[in-house]
Amino acid sequence: MKLPRLPLYTRILIGLLAGVVFGILANQLGFSDFVFNYIKPVGSAFIRLISMVVVPLVFASLLVGTASLNDIRKLGRIGVKTLAYYLCTTIIAISIGLFLANTLRPGAGLPEEARKKLVQSSSEEGVQIETTLKKPKIKDIFLNIIPTNPIKAFVEGNMLQIIFLALMGGICLSLIPSERSQPVINFFEGVNEVVIRIVHIIMKIAPYGVFALISAVTADFGLGILLILLKYSAVVIVGLILHVTIVYSSAIKIFSKQKIGTFFRGIRPAQLIAFSSASSSATLPVTMECTERNLGVSRQIASFALPLGATINMDGTALYQGVSTVFITQVYGLSLTPAQQLTIVLTALLASIGTAGTPAAGVITLAIVLKSVGVPLEGIGIILGVERILDMCRSVVNVTGDASCAVVVASTEGQL
Ligand code: ASP
Repeated sequence: MKLPRLPLYTRILIGLLAGVVFGILANQLGFSDFVFNYIKPVGSAFIRLISMVVVPLVFASLLVGTASLNDIRKLGRIGVKTLAYYLCTTIIAISIGLFLANTLRPGAGLPEEARKKLVQSSSEEGVQIETTLKKPKIKDIFLNIIPTNPIKAFVEGNMLQIIFLALMGGICLSLIPSERSQPVINFFEGVNEVVIRIVHIIMKIAPYGVFALISAVTADFGLGILLILLKYSAVVIVGLILHVTIVYSSAIKIFSKQKIGTFFRGIRPAQLIAFSSASSSATLPVTMECTERNLGVSRQIASFALPLGATINMDGTALYQGVSTVFITQVYGLSLTPAQQLTIVLTALLASIGTAGTPAAGVITLAIVLKSVGVPLEGIGIILGVERILDMCRSVVNVTGDASCAVVVASTEGQL
């Protein structure tokens, strides 16, 4: 199928819609296995291709971006603004989630039979999640940013360590004589251009990749569980939409001169990839490309704010964790005190920071939030049926939040 001369966004959207239809057909007509065995690998190949460029892209562009900053204080300022934006928007996201879940009470009106069925079927999966859960210590989180072995950081794709290395390397490049630093900078500029060219080539197959990913998801989908969990899913999705339309739009309106329409049009390809891959890390190269090319954010800021955001800024995940905790509490017929709600804000903030930008990572760290307020972990099993679709939606918000931060910071720094 050749889809000539349409804009990239339109082609990806066509791929996505065609994938949904194809997946539903496969599910109904009973050829889901064909989709899993022969179509899904195309999607996996696409994800592997974009994941392949993440590490070199982040390192080369951040190193070059930092090396060209001649004022280290400016770097500090950009860092503080970026972190402040990420923290504030995440706290607002959790608050929106808690507010909606407390007022709409999605878990309260479940028919007794559905409730029993959910609680019964959930216990096994919840326990499985508990065994994979390691509670992070704040001290370790900070210490782990410093790599003891740079090569290991690259091999493991540890994004915070790679960011740390690139920042240190970039700062020191600007401190040594330019006849020494220039060849290094030139080399990494070359690497950066090659990687960006690779991203362009990969984007040509994006519509097919998205088609394959989405058809595999829809072929797998059981509609039954979705209906029982419809109200809960609707609350999460409404919260996500409110967060994007109110919080990000206001931030862009207040702090930058960019038109809101331009922002959302520019970021759409990244949103579609995030939706179909459910991974903000895998989407990172596309997010960087969109924010630089379509939104006009300088490389310096995009290469710092976006990789950091893909690692620590998960507004969609945080909102989802807030709603889910309250929902599970309601299903179990428990209630939460105001102090417990505050605990949810704090732990969901930390849990979302600790969530990797990979599929289903947020449901694992949800266990930290549940544990902090004493809600049974088996409750996670209740919501696993709709996990994938909510994962796709919250990943879109995670990526949009990163891009909005890049626009806001770039704008206040005169780099838009
Ligand atoms: N899949 C999400 C992301 O990559 C993380 C999560 O599971 O919430 O952004």
